[in-house]
Amino acid sequence: MCLLCSEELGNADQCRKVCTFEQQQTLLEHCNLSLLKGHDTWSTEVSSRINAFNNLIAEEASYHVYCYNRYVKHKQLKASGATGRPEDQLLSNLFDSLCEWLKINADEKLH
Ligand SMILES: [Zn+2]
Repeated sequence: MCLLCSEELGNADQCRKVCTFEQQQTLLEHCNLSLLKGHDTWSTEVSSRINAFNNLIAEEASYHVYCYNRYVKHKQLKASGATGRPEDQLLSNLFDSLCEWLKINADEKLH
C-alpha cells in the first residue's frame, strides 16, 4: 500500500521504499508543516498512516514515486512561494499531474 495515496503499489518501477532516515524525515516534516499551516486533508491522511508505523524504514513503508513527487515537491513550491526555484520545475510538476490525470482517465476508459 502506498503511504501517500493508500492505493495498491503495483509496478515496482514506480515505487520506492522508505529506506533512509532522511526520506522518513522529509515525509514527516512535510506532513507536520502542512498540518501546522492549517487544514490539509491529504497531510492528515498521510500523518495517520505514518503514525500507524512504528518505524517506516524497518517496516518497509512504500510509496509511489509520483505520489512522493506530487506530495513533497508540490508542497515545497506551495509552502515557500517565490524562492527562486526555477519555473520549469513548477511546469514539470504540472506536466506530471497532467500525465497522471491522463493515465487515470485513460485507464478508466479501458476497463
Ligand atoms: Zn501512491
